[in-house]
Amino acid sequence: MYICLAAVKEGFISGWRNLIALDGCFLKGVVKGQILVAIGRDGNNQMYPIAWAIVDKETTETWSWFLEQLSDDLNIGDGLGWSIISDMQKGLIHAINELLPHIEHRMCARHIYARWGKSYPGKDLQIQFWNIARSTSEPEMKKQIEKMKELKGGAKAVEELLDRWPILESRSKPIITMLEDIRQYVMTRIVVKKQYALKWKNSCGPNIVSRIDKERKNSSRWYVEWNGGASHEVFRDDLVQHVREGYVILLACQSCSCGKWNKMGIPCEHALAVISFNGADPENFVADWFKRDIYLKAYSSTINPVKGSEFWQLVMKIPSEIPQVEATPVLNETNIGLRMQSRQRKMARAIQASKGKKQVHTSAQGFVTIIRGAHHGGVIVGRDNPQFNSFITAGQLNALKSRNTNAN
Ligand SMILES: [Zn+2]
Repeated sequence: MYICLAAVKEGFISGWRNLIALDGCFLKGVVKGQILVAIGRDGNNQMYPIAWAIVDKETTETWSWFLEQLSDDLNIGDGLGWSIISDMQKGLIHAINELLPHIEHRMCARHIYARWGKSYPGKDLQIQFWNIARSTSEPEMKKQIEKMKELKGGAKAVEELLDRWPILESRSKPIITMLEDIRQYVMTRIVVKKQYALKWKNSCGPNIVSRIDKERKNSSRWYVEWNGGASHEVFRDDLVQHVREGYVILLACQSCSCGKWNKMGIPCEHALAVISFNGADPENFVADWFKRDIYLKAYSSTINPVKGSEFWQLVMKIPSEIPQVEATPVLNETNIGLRMQSRQRKMARAIQASKGKKQVHTSAQGFVTIIRGAHHGGVIVGRDNPQFNSFITAGQLNALKSRNTNAN
């Protein structure tokens, strides 16, 4: 089941960076499966959930299906002009290579560290790992790699940071309850973020302002020379090593040869030296996606509240093509026959079925069919089949229907 709420989608498209982070995590409750998520970055450099889906497990097929839906929603095309950050999950990497061949795909440093750090847990090594990861230019990166070569390992392994995504608590609940938790979270989040931005004292968010302040602290150590045209040279002498460090700044292009300004969209310490030299306001040199008006645009739509599931209409509707999954134990293989014909086979997907008395509902929008059991619920694409006294998937039901129609 894939979800991308219109208000969220419109917000993302309204002017933010074409940058998406993808990840998957396990569900911990009675419902076994995984949730796939696509996250963007908002104008205050904070997380922005775009879309999420429940699948049986992370595979090339499920990631391909998720990326197809996401690509359609965000109009990503073949990926040109977009960037993706992900872990090293093989299925995901295959799916990205196949569907988005022109996207800039980079691995998440935290995931890399999670693996690499097991063998090299030293504190100094850890700090140096992040110095390398944060390098904004090739010379800088090579320099940091050389520094790491000089270190010796030995300190404690670093504990992984806790994921602050609220799914941590919800992911042990039944699927519909969990998806409703996420929807409510996203609905409320829009309101909170909007009210938050209205209180900003600056033209960009507090995280951006503090980032500028941090860079500004280092800007006083640089000398500035103007070439009389569009460029400035910023430099300082290292009296110990007898070398001059220097960068070229193009204010109009919001660019510094250190690479940091171009990549972050926030003026680096070199650029701030020039901005101060010219008596200008640093906030005028921050990328548009960090500006308050763009931020507010992204949080301008609202998500409609939804009534409880007792109010949902009974509908039989088959969702857009979804990948085949392995059957859950609840399905009766003997009666139903899990080997479905080509198209129906692709469309059928049973994530979890509950025992006990079953009811089938769908939301007002259709597409979601659930079964509620005596003790727990679950998501199912399908319904009870009195003919066989068991449960069948939507694909199977559809196959039966079309067979009956043809027979008549
Ligand atoms: Zn710079």
